Amino acid sequence: MTAAGPGAGGEVRVEVDRIRCVGTGLCAATAPDALELGADGRARALRAIAADSEELTEAAEMCPVEAISVRSAATGEQVAPRW
Ligand code: SF4
Repeated sequence: MTAAGPGAGGEVRVEVDRIRCVGTGLCAATAPDALELGADGRARALRAIAADSEELTEAAEMCPVEAISVRSAATGEQVAPRW
């Protein structure tokens, strides 16, 4: 298993820009432990603070509209997406 990023193994703050989200569901399918589609068809974080994981990093990086932000809960450093 490879490290997911600077926050790998720690806790991260997960935020979804629900205005930007277009409801593809990719993130919820990729990281179902951290993200879900709400009743309005837009993604949301299950918890504001979550354990960092490769799935969460992948979900943030594959979002077509870059609506997901994953930051280190301790430092605020952006973990994903990494561009
Ligand atoms: S991948 Fe992005 S656009 Fe698709 S549901 Fe998740 S946050 Fe919304």
